[in-house]
Amino acid sequence: MGTTVTITVTGVKESRALDAIEAAFAEVARVDRLMSTYRSESQVGVLNRTGRVEAGPDLLLVLERARTISEASSGAFDITIKPLLDLFSRLFEQEERAPEPAEVEACLLRVGYRRLTVEGTLVSLPAGSEISLGGIAKGYAIDLAVAALLREGIDHALVNAGGDLYALGNREGEPWRIAVQNPRERDDLLATIPLSAMAVATSGDYERSFDPDHEYHHIIDPRTGLSARGVMSVTITASSALDADALATAVFVLGADDGLALIESLDGIEAFLITNEGTIVTSGGMNYTMLEER
Ligand code: ADP
Ligand code: MG
Repeated sequence: MGTTVTITVTGVKESRALDAIEAAFAEVARVDRLMSTYRSESQVGVLNRTGRVEAGPDLLLVLERARTISEASSGAFDITIKPLLDLFSRLFEQEERAPEPAEVEACLLRVGYRRLTVEGTLVSLPAGSEISLGGIAKGYAIDLAVAALLREGIDHALVNAGGDLYALGNREGEPWRIAVQNPRERDDLLATIPLSAMAVATSGDYERSFDPDHEYHHIIDPRTGLSARGVMSVTITASSALDADALATAVFVLGADDGLALIESLDGIEAFLITNEGTIVTSGGMNYTMLEER
């Protein structure tokens, strides 16, 4: 999934912790084998190459959640944006240039979450369409890792996949605390969020840009075919990492106003946004502490 996963377990003997961590990593590896676009034999790889695949229960569940979030976000979340990501990476890497409007238009004809169909366990895509689960699979992998830890009897743990994470139980009796960083300055921490039995995920334009100005980055607005420009960073808390991961991407695309409206309409989900002007806006129930007066 193109990231580093760190699992921390506390409150049990080292040997038990290591067994639990091994079981959790096995789940992460399983999701990667099923859903990575970099593996031509993964279920997603087969779907993208051939236009159809017999999906197992994991892929079916992730596709179902993806579709629900696409519908809830009026199509802002859309796993079929892969042709645009591929266009950007090819042009910037091989030709060192931005796409022409006509190239973007041509790709957009192949994009649209309704193009993906599921009949029973058979998943199909029309020719030219491809999916990327980069905005949701990491969250699913975190949830499965946490479920494995719970099965192993672990009460306190942190599963961190490149900053998207789930905090189980607590840390020395206090909630786990995660920091939100300044999207333009890596070492500047803006706020902390207390977490217990909760997930948090962040989407930012700073993480993977194709160009130095962050104009072309890895979160695509399916309405324009260009990288989303509404905000600098979105952090979502939710009881599942899958929801936090996908909703962070969706809200990033929707921007502050529509994004917050979506979050306020959902139970148990909160958002912390940094606008393009550097202003912090949050949903009503977001629990956080600013680190200094700004
Ligand atoms: P990160 O991977 O840095 O945590 P995200 O969770 O926001 O960031 O996921 C970004 C990934 O989501 C992209 O690499 C791409 O695979 C996918 N993606 C990009 N735009 C969209 C979109 N509009 N809807 C769904 N997935 C998207
Ligand atoms: Mg994410």
